[in-house]
Amino acid sequence: MIVLFGNKAYYDILGYMVTTCPGCKTTSVMTVEQQRKKLTVYFIPTFDFSRKQYMYCGHCHERFEIDKSLQSTVKARLLSKKQMENLIQQLEMETPRYECANCEARVEAGMRFCPQCGNSLG
Ligand SMILES: [Zn+2]
Ligand SMILES: [Zn+2]
Repeated sequence: MIVLFGNKAYYDILGYMVTTCPGCKTTSVMTVEQQRKKLTVYFIPTFDFSRKQYMYCGHCHERFEIDKSLQSTVKARLLSKKQMENLIQQLEMETPRYECANCEARVEAGMRFCPQCGNSLG
């Protein structure tokens, strides 16, 4: 009888985390993934035999394994996609923006008059 073994890795996105990449040292949004390796054995139902977690850096495109002892810490810090979007938005809000007090048009730093309504930006 021939027994067929095989395995296939799946990655489920668990959430997002802002942290410093161990590879490229960039502080950015890392995608936290759960790896599931399905063991497939002929005639026997498949089951998960791997529960490794990885974080994926969108900057250097590397995947780093999260140590088992750190998984609970990571879990506590995980952000949902929505929370992540809000955070990014918040960061953008905090970067200095200049806008015309009259028409709220976006103006460049150092401009003296609004290009849209001509209001003095003094
Ligand atoms: Zn990186
Ligand atoms: Zn204006």
